[in-house]
This record gives sequence, C-alpha cells and structure tokens, in this order.
Amino acid sequence: MNKAPFFAVTRHRINIDGKGVVTLVCFGMCPLRCKYCVNAQCFKEDETWKWKEMTPEELYQQTKCDELYFMATGGGLTFGGGEPLLRSDFIREFRTLCGPHWKLSVETSLNVPAEQVETLLPVIDCWIVDIKDMDPAVYQAYTGKDNRQVLDNLRLLAATCGSEKVKVRVPLIPDFNDETCRKRSVDGLREMGFAHFDLFEYKIKHSHTD
Ligand code: SF4
Repeated sequence: MNKAPFFAVTRHRINIDGKGVVTLVCFGMCPLRCKYCVNAQCFKEDETWKWKEMTPEELYQQTKCDELYFMATGGGLTFGGGEPLLRSDFIREFRTLCGPHWKLSVETSLNVPAEQVETLLPVIDCWIVDIKDMDPAVYQAYTGKDNRQVLDNLRLLAATCGSEKVKVRVPLIPDFNDETCRKRSVDGLREMGFAHFDLFEYKIKHSHTD
C-alpha cells in the first residue's frame, strides 16, 4: 500500500504558495542537510517527527473539504517537506483521485533521481524549486550534497514543461553566498530558459527559513 509519513498538513494558506487558497502537505524525509533547515526534525531517523501516515485516498478524504475554495480561487495542494519528490508515486496517485482541476504544486530541491521528476511531469501544475546556489562548492558547503543531479533536473524541466510552470527560489544564504554568487546563479538559470525567480534572504538571527 502506498502509505507516506507526514509531519504537517496546513489548510487555508492564501497567496503564499502561488495563487489561490492552498493546503500545504509536508512529507517527512529529505536527502539534504541544509545548515539553516527549519524542518530538520523531519529527517530524524527515529521518526519522532511523524504526525500521521496516510495513503493517497486518506489524504484526499482529509483535504477535499476545501474543494470549493480551490475551485473558486484557482488553488489546491502544495506538496512540500522534507522532499516531496521522494514520494512521486504517491503524488501521481493523488492526482488520479482529485481529478484535473485542483492545482497541484511541489516545493522541491530537485536533488532526486530524474525518474522522480519524470513521473510527475504530467500531473504537476507548478514547480517551486529551491536551488540554494548554482555553484557546486557553495551548494556542497550549505547542503552537504553535490548539485549535479539538481542541474540535470533543471535542464530536464526546461526541456519538458517549459519556464511558465517553474518558479526558482534563489536565496541569499548568510555566511555561504553573496549577491555576486546569486547574480551568477540567476544568469545561469536565465541561460537555461527560466524566467520566474523568487529572490529572498534566509533570516537566521531569530528564526531560520527554508
Ligand atoms: S531541502 Fe528543505 S527540508 Fe531538506 S534539508 Fe534543506 S531546508 Fe531542510
């Protein structure tokens, strides 16, 4: 059975994850270890973070009470985490249950095998990609992983779903990159064909941001 562990489901987010009323669904587990992760509890081996396990059908039953809001505002579900693309089969199955009219988005690092991206190409309306930084050394220092897979998957997205469905988050990461690094990242992304960016800074003094 396609059951997945979650650590949160948050309803009635308005114009935060894109247009409309959105329910944010957070899967546990992530391949990265970002230094300022706000959800670091979601990859603890002991799974003390686990709030609930659900099948796609159970998640659909839990979220469909907001269908009228989704239809009226152009909203739907955003799958975040952790890393939602570790659960591509789950999301694909969810699409068959909710039908074609809910907007489905993913917030992803894209640091997953290409098959996980390919599985979702036909069912995702909006890709929100946090690339951290395009520079391999900055990326490695901040996440503990290399970013070759991220770059390959960005090329895959550019070649398949095009730039309109993709928003790339390009953060300033205190102590890891600067404006010059970020401009280089944005220039590289433009060369790949992307046009929509979310430029922001991680706030680490009082609270960390994802
Ligand atoms: S990708 Fe997000 S959830 Fe994963 S370690 Fe980085 S900040 Fe945390």
